[in-house]
Amino acid sequence: MTFFCIGRNYSEHIRELSNPVEEDPVVFLKPAPAMLHDNRPFYYPSFTEEVHHELELIFKFGRKGKSIPEEKAWSFLSQVSVGIDFTARDLQRRCKERSLPWEISKAFDQSAVCGRWIPIESVQRNALQFELYVNNRLVQSGRIEDMLFPVPKVIHYLSQFFLVNKGDILFTGTPAGVGPVHTGDQLRGHLNGECLFEFSIR
Ligand code: MN
Repeated sequence: MTFFCIGRNYSEHIRELSNPVEEDPVVFLKPAPAMLHDNRPFYYPSFTEEVHHELELIFKFGRKGKSIPEEKAWSFLSQVSVGIDFTARDLQRRCKERSLPWEISKAFDQSAVCGRWIPIESVQRNALQFELYVNNRLVQSGRIEDMLFPVPKVIHYLSQFFLVNKGDILFTGTPAGVGPVHTGDQLRGHLNGECLFEFSIR
């Protein structure tokens, strides 16, 4: 399975990292070993000194597709949750400065936290709101309606380039409030008030 990830999808987050607003969605991938689920701890990697949390709405594909039209995009998704796109911000900065690919800062093992999955039919998909608490303090909150590129547009765009398969996962970008995590931190992610993940940094 593959993770399809969107960057720069919320205007306040674009401002906080001083990035430009893009005309098309920014897409990057993570391979299967990036998966971290079942509330397992995140072990702070030795190659970075600045791991940031990026809380994101995530979706699971329920069937295979290619060049998916926007109006059919929702029917390709089966489940929704919240996740974290862990980012080694120091490495990412170095890659960006040299105009090099980001993979080592974004796609490393256990960098994609996935919360408990919820069937998409059981939520109101245009009224999703989500929060991240670090040590019981609210640090990030977002709403699906604030995305610059809505989910159908993102799926249409990326499926022009990539075949999506059942079980693949879409990370839709982070709202403002990203920041560093530290050993001992406790992270908790909520979707519409329901806790879908809770794990620690070790
Ligand atoms: Mn992200």
